[in-house]
Amino acid sequence: MSVIEPGGTIGIIGGGQLARMMALEARRMGYRIGVLDPDREGPAAQVADFCIEGEFADRTAAEALAARSDVITIDTEHVPAEVLEWLETMKPVRPAASILRIVQDRCVQRRFLESQGAPQPKYALVLDAKSLREAAAIVGFPCVLKTRQSGYDGKGQVKIDRMEDLDDAWGAIDYRPAILEAFIHFGKEISVLLARDLSGNMRFYPIAENLHRHHVLHTTQAPAPTLSAALWAEAEALGAGIASALGHVGMMAVELFVTQEGGLLVNEIAPRPHNSGHYTFGACATSQFEQHIRAICGLALGAPSLLRPAVMINLFGDLWRDGLPDWHTVLSHPSARLHLYGKQRPLPGRKMGHILILDNENGQSALEIAETIDRVGY
Ligand code: AMP
Repeated sequence: MSVIEPGGTIGIIGGGQLARMMALEARRMGYRIGVLDPDREGPAAQVADFCIEGEFADRTAAEALAARSDVITIDTEHVPAEVLEWLETMKPVRPAASILRIVQDRCVQRRFLESQGAPQPKYALVLDAKSLREAAAIVGFPCVLKTRQSGYDGKGQVKIDRMEDLDDAWGAIDYRPAILEAFIHFGKEISVLLARDLSGNMRFYPIAENLHRHHVLHTTQAPAPTLSAALWAEAEALGAGIASALGHVGMMAVELFVTQEGGLLVNEIAPRPHNSGHYTFGACATSQFEQHIRAICGLALGAPSLLRPAVMINLFGDLWRDGLPDWHTVLSHPSARLHLYGKQRPLPGRKMGHILILDNENGQSALEIAETIDRVGY
């Protein structure tokens, strides 16, 4: 089994905030970092040892990254699987291209989950106008139409309440191949965050509870405050089964709906560090970013233990509309920590950074502090 000792070079395809936080943790451990991204000023390129400018599908750029790296990983699952397959002939690629093939197509992902017996929303495949109607008959209303590929953070998805809106909804996603899913009136959303090493050992982080606004993660609270011990164990077992069946190496998040009846349904799988695991960077003994690096380099996994209960609030570009946000209010709370990703343009809806808040020493909970910060507009 190939172990990449500290001092080796990790190549990351994609240079966003996940790659940036992986790079910061990896460099602390003595690794060198190379990034392949179209933007050489992007969040990860700013902190990497070298950046290769190129599109993810650019094989010359990918080969140049592989030539200078001991292991390849990803910042997003939207890296073409065939590029990763080809890189696998040169260097270890973790997660494997075969896993990307499954998760980057929502239909293939749902079929994989079905083959594992994992509970999930009712769904059906949409290829044309006829199959759209048939899918609606199977799934019922309300439902959600999602493009098979390239969707994230609610992009490429439309909620549909009535039969009459079917065609418009499909038009809104450019008549692309899609799946239609039952809309779940969930009680809450949680994520199982786990790491799996080269020998199949796993470590679980405290399950996080997630609050989305406009289909995008807004706040994460960990540990999930009201999850029963039975559901907690069930969710971990589901995550473990999925990670093992995939033969995954690295961090993985499994996003779940907790139904109002108290059941679990898998929303989606992310075979990488995940936004709902940002809280681990500061609130846990080993962050999800260090853990991912350890796993893909063949090192022992670190302790995922929670140091203190935590809340993470995402910071979107909208906050910059009247100039710089008021960081002083945030930082006046000693247990609040600011993470900014170095993005130059604060576009509306763009994830610019996050705030991590821990329970403080005076007994004030992270949630109470988060609420006071949130009231001033975060
Ligand atoms: P996704 O990009 O599939 O992770 O969806 C983003 C968010 O949209 C989820 O975290 C949910 O809040 C919401 N969502 C997605 N699918 C469904 C569904 N089938 N029923 C209800 N809400 C959904």
